[in-house]
Amino acid sequence: MSHPLFDLTGRVALVTGSSRGIGREIAAGLAEAGATLVLHGRDRDRLEATRAQFAADFGEDRISAVAFDVTDPDQVSAGVAEAERVAGPIAILVNNAGVQHRVPLLDLELADWQRVIDTDLTSAFLVGRAVARGMIERGRGKIINIASVQTDLARASIGAYTAAKGGIRNLTRAMTVEWAEHDIQINAIAPGYIHTEMTQRLVDDEEFNSWIVGRTPARRWGRTADLKGPAVWLASDASDFVNGQVVFIDGGMTVVV
Ligand code: NDP
Repeated sequence: MSHPLFDLTGRVALVTGSSRGIGREIAAGLAEAGATLVLHGRDRDRLEATRAQFAADFGEDRISAVAFDVTDPDQVSAGVAEAERVAGPIAILVNNAGVQHRVPLLDLELADWQRVIDTDLTSAFLVGRAVARGMIERGRGKIINIASVQTDLARASIGAYTAAKGGIRNLTRAMTVEWAEHDIQINAIAPGYIHTEMTQRLVDDEEFNSWIVGRTPARRWGRTADLKGPAVWLASDASDFVNGQVVFIDGGMTVVV
C-alpha cells in the first residue's frame, strides 16, 4: 500500500502542456497517485488522443481536457474557468507548457525572443495567477513550475530559454512570498536533459549525445518517468512545508564542473 501522505485521491490537477512529453508523464504520475486530471495543450487532435488514452487507463470520470494558448491572457482566463467547470476547483497546478528556440543571441529576432519568454515564463504567471485566486479563497493549493538546468546554467544558442527559465526560479520565489501564507506551496522542478520530442535532435546528434552522457554523473539522459516521483511529492501533503524551492532532477549535472 502506498503511503497516505502521497495520496492525491479526489484532488483536481491541471497540467499545462500535458498532451505529450514531460507534462504527459507528470500527469500520468499524478493520476496514478489518485488525482483527477485536466489535460491541456493547444493542438486539439493530439490533446484528444491523449485524453482518450488516459480515460482508458484511469476512467472517463477522472479525466478531462481543455485546450488553450497559455500565452493569451483571455484564453487563459476562459480555459482555467472551463477546467474548473468540468472538473471542479483546481488543487494542483503544474506550469509545464514550454518551447525551445535554438539561435545565437546575435541572430535572435525579437519576435522569437518574445515568443519563448511568453510561453516559458509569462504563461506561468498568467495561469498561476488565474488558478491562485481560487486557491487563496479555499486556503489550500500546490503549484509546481517546470524550470530546467538552464535555470542555473547557460549554454550557447538558447539565450531566451535560459532567461525564461532563470525567471521561473524567481517567479517561484515571488509567488511563495505572496501566497504561501494561504497554505499554498509553490515549488519548481528543474529537469536535466530529458529525452522528449523537444530534445530528439540533440539525442540524434552523436557529439552532443556523448557530451551529455559524459557531463552527467548518472551517465544517461533523463527519462520522463524520472519526474513522476518528484511531481507527486510536490503535489502531495508530503511537501506541506516545502516552499519556494527549485528541485533539480538532472542525474547530478548541476553539481559538477
Ligand atoms: P514538448 O515539446 O514535448 O511538449 C510541449 C507541450 O507544451 C505540448 O503539450 C504543447 O502543446 C505545449 N505547449 C507549447 N506551447 C504552448 C502554448 N503556447 N499554449 C499551450 N500549450 C503549449 O516539451 P517537453 O515535454 O520537452 O517540455 C515540457 C517542459 O519541460 C517545458 O517547460 C520545457 O522547457 C521543460 N524542460 C524540458 C527538458 C527536456 O529535456 N525535454 C529539460 C528541462 C525542462 P501542443 O503540442 O498542443 O502545442
